[in-house]
Amino acid sequence: MICPKRTSELLDLHLAPFKDKDPAWEIGVSKIAGRGVVATRSLKRGEIIFRDSPLLMGLAAHEEDSLNACSVCLKMLPDTRFMCRQGCGLPVCSLCAKKKQHKSDCDLFKSWGPNEPDVANSVIIRLLCVARAINLTKEQRDLIYCLQANLDNNHRTEVRNAAKCFKNFPTDKKLIEIMNRTVAVLRTNGFDKTTDRTNDNQEFNYRALYPLFGVVNHDCIPNAYYTFEEKTNNMIVRAAVDIPEGFEVTTTYTKLFTGNIARHLFLKMKKSFTCKCSRCSDPTEKGAFISGLYCRDTNCTGLVVPEISGLPHPNWNCLECKQKSTHAQMMKSQDFASGAINAKANSNSLRTLVQYLNEKSDSFIPSSNYVVIDAKMSVLQRLQQGREDCSEELAHNTRLRYSRDITQMMDKLGLGDSLLRTHLEELLRREEERRAKRLADEAEKQRKLAELQAKAAEADKLLEVLEKEQAEQSKAAGTADPGTAPAPPPAATVELA
Ligand SMILES: [Zn+2]
Ligand SMILES: [Zn+2]
Ligand SMILES: [Zn+2]
Ligand SMILES: [Zn+2]
Repeated sequence: MICPKRTSELLDLHLAPFKDKDPAWEIGVSKIAGRGVVATRSLKRGEIIFRDSPLLMGLAAHEEDSLNACSVCLKMLPDTRFMCRQGCGLPVCSLCAKKKQHKSDCDLFKSWGPNEPDVANSVIIRLLCVARAINLTKEQRDLIYCLQANLDNNHRTEVRNAAKCFKNFPTDKKLIEIMNRTVAVLRTNGFDKTTDRTNDNQEFNYRALYPLFGVVNHDCIPNAYYTFEEKTNNMIVRAAVDIPEGFEVTTTYTKLFTGNIARHLFLKMKKSFTCKCSRCSDPTEKGAFISGLYCRDTNCTGLVVPEISGLPHPNWNCLECKQKSTHAQMMKSQDFASGAINAKANSNSLRTLVQYLNEKSDSFIPSSNYVVIDAKMSVLQRLQQGREDCSEELAHNTRLRYSRDITQMMDKLGLGDSLLRTHLEELLRREEERRAKRLADEAEKQRKLAELQAKAAEADKLLEVLEKEQAEQSKAAGTADPGTAPAPPPAATVELA
């Protein structure tokens, strides 16, 4: 284990521009793994724990990405003529072309001689974030070496492939080693465009290393969450729940709504560890049943959940009739449900999908299952984008219902604040306001209608009285003097006035 004291010193240097005088955290020995970030005083939900700035940052430039983004400011550029005219092989905007950062990138890559400097090459552009480590200070590089790195067989591939894209790629072992190490650290602790770390639904089109955040360990029910400041790309980490003094600050490296087995596999493959958090040790996932399926015995109404065995293909148990099922048997049910719901999701009609989720899917898959939650999230997303074949009424009811369903699942799991929760609660608040307004409008309409009806009834009554009186008068006039017209009824005139 790398010494927490040395890590602290190097982090202090990195954070010097904006470190609090009285930070609420320290680097300490972790109960989860090695070392971690520990709260030095109790923190209230929503409170800022720390800020971090990217030590390295660059375009993710995955093969499928469009490559016309500036390698310095990361902004999208017009589709033509975005490559640096100096021949470094990097896309750059006219403003950033004059900046110190590009001068340093440009000199480095020009000296390596890109094979086709005018053609945007994803391998070269992606390497930039890694190559920038070469020009860091010694302390900054030491900080990279202080962070966890999974040095598996694959971590050298990126640099090896990039080497083929230059005429004079360095052969100096030390330089290559710095770059390979940086790749490994980025893969273990960094952000990439991929959904490696989706504490929230923020999109991330670049790769970056936030060193202090890199020390924060994982928990499937994290007690902290992060956002980014748009202008600076600095990260702000806040308490998702109240954190008592001495407790470790945690984040999640996985999606919030995936079942125990999928999270285990992901953490094992991508992050090389086995999570032993309270959620992972509970087959029901805190009673949220994210992987729950119906019992195969049609007479049983119980839910079936996978055993906690650490195996990729565990047995499943019915919590009601205790029947055991194999993983393959349960995967059949899961795949069937996923297939059916995805088919509806891809059918292009949002109305059909919503109807299916509201009326049909419950018959073959519990509403707590991640497939259903995912589908509901995608419905909310599509509604936000608009342009759907959906009436205002249905959109309103669906937003209300699904945002409630998903926040309820978060509550069950014991999840605190996150961007997702903020977003859903805002949606819920807006829809409830809309509903309250509609109800108030409707009540007002009813009140006015009742008022009009009362007036009409009153007028009817008067008319009846009038007619009766007229009839009586004409009857009286008819018997006394049939030659004269009946006189106007004085009583009625008074009443009408
Ligand atoms: Zn730029
Ligand atoms: Zn250049
Ligand atoms: Zn866990
Ligand atoms: Zn059963």
